[in-house]
Amino acid sequence: MKKDAKIYIAGHRGMVGSAIHRRLNAQGFSNLLLRTSGELDLRNQQDVAEFFAAEKPEYVFLAAAKVGGILANNTFRADFLYENLAIQNNVIHQAYLHGVKKLLFLGSSCIYPKLAPQPIKESSLLTGLLEPTNEPYAIAKIAGIKLCEAYRAQYGCNFISVMPTNLYGYNDNYHPEHSHVMPALIRRFHEAKALGQPEVVVWGTGTPRREFLFADDLADACTYLMDHYTSPDLINVGTGEDISIRELANLIRSVVGYDGELIFDRSMPDGTPRKLMDVSKLHEMGWRHKTSLEAGVKMAYEDFIGRIARQ
Ligand code: GDP
Repeated sequence: MKKDAKIYIAGHRGMVGSAIHRRLNAQGFSNLLLRTSGELDLRNQQDVAEFFAAEKPEYVFLAAAKVGGILANNTFRADFLYENLAIQNNVIHQAYLHGVKKLLFLGSSCIYPKLAPQPIKESSLLTGLLEPTNEPYAIAKIAGIKLCEAYRAQYGCNFISVMPTNLYGYNDNYHPEHSHVMPALIRRFHEAKALGQPEVVVWGTGTPRREFLFADDLADACTYLMDHYTSPDLINVGTGEDISIRELANLIRSVVGYDGELIFDRSMPDGTPRKLMDVSKLHEMGWRHKTSLEAGVKMAYEDFIGRIARQ
């Protein structure tokens, strides 16, 4: 991408989109196209068509999506399926109609089968049943991958699909029930410490294993892949390391400085037993993450404290 290329970041207010925005700014890109969801509703076909016709972006980072943790995915099943399909259909189709030079579609590690061999290779896609709690979201994301593949096969579009592992970082969603595990526990430990509560509830058994990537590292990978990756095949982005939810809870507890107990609520779902990406394809291209989990959790916690102070 040239430094003055017209680049549209769909979803620039979200955790991933805002990280891509920071990264492109830092790299000196000067012609960024941004719209808040209030200014442009990506679920609305007509609005998206008018936006592309008027602005004609050259490059698109498709980071707009309806996202949430295990409970949100499981509860708002219709919204996760319908809204994500609508957003990606509209943006990908208009990118084709208006000759976008390259589009990067962001998926998720939940597209892979619940019991995929670990670490999960890109070739595991569609080889088994999905995890039921996030099946609607996963089906939407799989449709997005297939849409990018199909526009490439039929019309020669340079659309690529990137599968990030579980993410965390600045501008995360700290909703007490609908967020992902990392922000949920940062908030819960912080509040327990502030209120002097003797224990903190962690959902599930604590035994599921997850891999966590700092969103700014994902943004770095995305700009790298926009410049260097042209394959029709999807590519995983992660750290290649995972930890159990119990270990994660203990790490967050020590970063927050809380000395109470952990209680595991087994009435809440565990979800997939393990989700570790095989990132050898990305490593072979020469890209590696930079932020350690401990450093990332510290930065996320500082961001959370900053938000509370601003409220
Ligand atoms: P998932 O990777 O799609 O399962 O996404 P989540 O980040 O929502 O959950 C990851 C794991 O953390 C699951 O095993 C959850 O049961 C567990 N977990 C523990 N406490 C919490 C919590 O407070 N919120 C969420 N969302 N998950 C939690």
